[in-house]
Amino acid sequence: MPGEVRVRFAPSPTGLPHIGNIRTALFNWLFARHNGGKFIVRVEDTDQARLVPGSIEAMLDGLRWLNIDWDEGPEVGGDYGPYFQSERLDIYQEMADRLVSQGNAYHCYCSQKPPADDDQRQRDRRVSASADCQCRDLSQEEGSKLSAAQESKVIRFAMPKDGITRVNDLIRGEVEWRNETLNDFIIMKFDGFPTYHLAVVADDHLMEISHVMRAEEWLPSTPRHLQLFEALGFEPPKFAHLPMIMGPDRAKLSKRHGATAIGEYIVDGYLPEALLNFMVLLGWSLDDKTDVVSSQTVTDNFTLDRVTKSSAIFDQKKLLWMNGMYIRELTPDQLAAAMTPFLERDLPKDMLPVDEEYLRRIAPLLQERIKRLDESADITEYFFRANETFNTDDLVQKGMDRDSTLSALNAALDDLSGADDFQHEKLEEMLTATGEKLELSRRQFFGVLRVAATGRAVSPPLFEMMEVMGKDRTVSRVNNAVERFSAAG
Ligand code: GLU
Repeated sequence: MPGEVRVRFAPSPTGLPHIGNIRTALFNWLFARHNGGKFIVRVEDTDQARLVPGSIEAMLDGLRWLNIDWDEGPEVGGDYGPYFQSERLDIYQEMADRLVSQGNAYHCYCSQKPPADDDQRQRDRRVSASADCQCRDLSQEEGSKLSAAQESKVIRFAMPKDGITRVNDLIRGEVEWRNETLNDFIIMKFDGFPTYHLAVVADDHLMEISHVMRAEEWLPSTPRHLQLFEALGFEPPKFAHLPMIMGPDRAKLSKRHGATAIGEYIVDGYLPEALLNFMVLLGWSLDDKTDVVSSQTVTDNFTLDRVTKSSAIFDQKKLLWMNGMYIRELTPDQLAAAMTPFLERDLPKDMLPVDEEYLRRIAPLLQERIKRLDESADITEYFFRANETFNTDDLVQKGMDRDSTLSALNAALDDLSGADDFQHEKLEEMLTATGEKLELSRRQFFGVLRVAATGRAVSPPLFEMMEVMGKDRTVSRVNNAVERFSAAG
């Protein structure tokens, strides 16, 4: 369909996916969805020395977890495949040969093999190996002689020596480079694989990519790509380079800022909706004030004029806050379901399996307090424990002694054992009256009870908690506290 928006996310499987990669994927996906276009995943696995097994699976899992679906690419296929560049080598070879025969590229025999860990960006930054290389100007005859004598060669693109290459970047505006500052970059490597530059241009053309949206660090590669498009006679796509992501100290984002591989956010108990919302704001905004914004609203409003030029700041504290906001918006059933895998992972085995029905009643009591789902076991453990193991001295509240504490416990135990209705208002009414009779303050009497029922000095509202725990559990705990306290005295 002419004019159709087709954008791609083109990860290299060289490590675990991080916030930077996924933000690029997200922006491309939002742009495709906003425009009713296609979102394509293409695996750029031509740098064989740097392949890290499992990284593509981790990337795709990360996208799935965030509900970022792709229309073409690994697993789903599509009309423009294969979507792994390592399966498209003949295409690149054919294009490289064409460029050589047109005089836009040449075999270079004097290039040094790069170190194995050299990556594309380092290569681009390094001074061209062809600074004093004569290969560009070899006659056909000389070339054939060298070619016969020496197997080891690369193909370099012959950059125009003068003139200017310009891009009208949809985010950054017009950017230009003097061609004389750009080296004769390699397009085919020693191993017969194309470099990123050739493969990206070939595939962006063949896959009919309409917009290339990628991180700003790729901007310096753009004039090379534009020159390749031109030499190959292809219409270039539109370019949009996304702002850098920095830490709050304005240094390049790293682990130090709390940014980790996407899988870590899953393990740490972030909700995908919260991480997605957070990442959307790394370079895009609805207006100056809205932070919490649904993915539908973002999709409806995702235009590139709302993408900032200036660097985005990754603020871990904001992510945590946002996660808490999203957790609070879950229904009790959703929260219970979200907590379950974390409880299964972290609760002592004797408390498993989790009683789902009970958990659904517990969840709302904790909703205000939990910021990450990996806190689930810690903040709910006392609901599941058969018996508390706390230090019984903790039962004694300020201004009380052992006797008054024991009387308080016994009085509460009587009340609770006799109660027919465990509804929290009823419990509060009954126990308030008992506390008054004992001439204890609310803080004292309820403090004793809280420790007896939970083993902790801090917990959600006491009576709502007792209602959720139910009569049997509550009575058995208070009874247990009485027994342990008496034995300890
Ligand atoms: N394979 C490159 C990367 O890993 C893609 C750059 C591009 O989108 O052109 O980021």
